[in-house]
Amino acid sequence: MEKYVPDIYQKSIYTVDYSKLYSNGIRCLLFDLDNTVVASKESNPPEKAKDLFISLKQKGFKVIILSNSPKSRVRKFADFFEVPCYHFALKPLSFKFKKVLSDNHFLPRETAIIGDQIMTDVLGGNKMDITTILVNPVSESDVVFTKFNRFFEKRKLKQLEERELFSRGNYYD
Ligand SMILES: [Mg+2]
Repeated sequence: MEKYVPDIYQKSIYTVDYSKLYSNGIRCLLFDLDNTVVASKESNPPEKAKDLFISLKQKGFKVIILSNSPKSRVRKFADFFEVPCYHFALKPLSFKFKKVLSDNHFLPRETAIIGDQIMTDVLGGNKMDITTILVNPVSESDVVFTKFNRFFEKRKLKQLEERELFSRGNYYD
């Protein structure tokens, strides 16, 4: 059950304490794209996110987009943000996580994933033993495949809440 619980839970990518992550030895930040950085149906990249990524890179982090979405969408945003990206990641499977870490020479203990979904980002990250950071989704609307995941996420969240392991809106880091 704990593999569904994030290490950190914050309202958005803008409220995460990145300095604390750095002090704890995190050097590589994997960002989910849809509903984490941009609304899943948004086609224009937000300037605010680019500014965040610039400041994170200046702090000494490697910033990488790790998304389950197709190449055409992921590449467009990543190019604007000027960060490397991996598309069609099939999170929660470990395959792409492992590739990202080995390509970029990071250990799991130096890496964190920031995402909006328990069933993909948090589960996938916990399986890899990297730091998992859940944020609230940017928008209410999801792509079809995510709608399916949200159904299971809802059930899982209910179980976690009953066991007092996690509850929506109670942020922690
Ligand atoms: Mg997402």
